[in-house]
Amino acid sequence: ITFASLELAEPLLRAVSETGYTIPTPIQAQAIPQVLLGGDLLAAAQTGTGKTAGFTLPILHRLLASPPAQTRKPGRPRCLILTPTRELAAQVEESVRTYGKHTSLRSMVMFGGVNINPQINALRKPLDILVATPGRLLDHAQQKTVDLSGVEILVLDEADRMLDMGFIRDIRRILALLPKQRQNLLFSATFSDEIRELAKGVLTNAAEISV
Ligand code: AMP
Repeated sequence: ITFASLELAEPLLRAVSETGYTIPTPIQAQAIPQVLLGGDLLAAAQTGTGKTAGFTLPILHRLLASPPAQTRKPGRPRCLILTPTRELAAQVEESVRTYGKHTSLRSMVMFGGVNINPQINALRKPLDILVATPGRLLDHAQQKTVDLSGVEILVLDEADRMLDMGFIRDIRRILALLPKQRQNLLFSATFSDEIRELAKGVLTNAAEISV
C-alpha cells in the first residue's frame, strides 16, 4: 500500500513525499480510508504510530474537496481538533501546516497559560482548522472570539489523557456548541469505561480500528 493508492489530493501527496514518508503506517492505512468516507471513527492508537498524519491528511482532503458553503467568516473553523496539552496542540498544528503547505487551508493553535490577545487577533482572519486545548477554547467561545457553529469535523486526540486531566466537563460544554451534524474522530491509547461512555455520546456508527 502506498499513499497514492489512498487517493489523497495531489497537494497532500506532494507534501507527504517531501516529508520523506513512503509507506503509510498501519494506523494511517486503516484510518485514512475511513475518514475519507466521512464516517465517525474510534481509534485505539498510541503516540508514535503516525496517528497525527492518520487524521490530518484525510481531514485536509475533505476540506479541499468540499469548499465552505458560505464565504469563510473570521474565527469560524470547519474542523476542530482538541488535545490535552499545549505541547500536543502545537505539535498537531505543526503537522497540519506541514501536510497542508501546498494548499490554501489555514490553521491556528490556541492553548492556555499564555496571553489571550494574540489569539484574539489571529481569530480575526478566516480559519479552516483550529487545534485547541479545551479550557482556552471555552474562554474564547464565551468571549465570542471563536464561532464553533461551522464545525464539520471534530477530533478528540488522546481522549484518555483529556479525561485523566479532568477535561470531561469542558469537553461536554464544547460539544454543546457544535452543530449536531458532523464527523467525529476519537483517538485514545486506552479504553476505560469512561472513554467508552464518552465515545457513546460523541460517535455515531463509528468504525473501530486498533493498532
Ligand atoms: P505520531 O504518532 O502522529 O505522533 O507520529 C510519530 C512520528 O512518526 C512522527 O515523527 C511522524 O513524523 C512520523 N511518521 C508519521 N507517519 C509516517 C510514515 N508514514 N512514515 C514514516 N514516518 C512517519
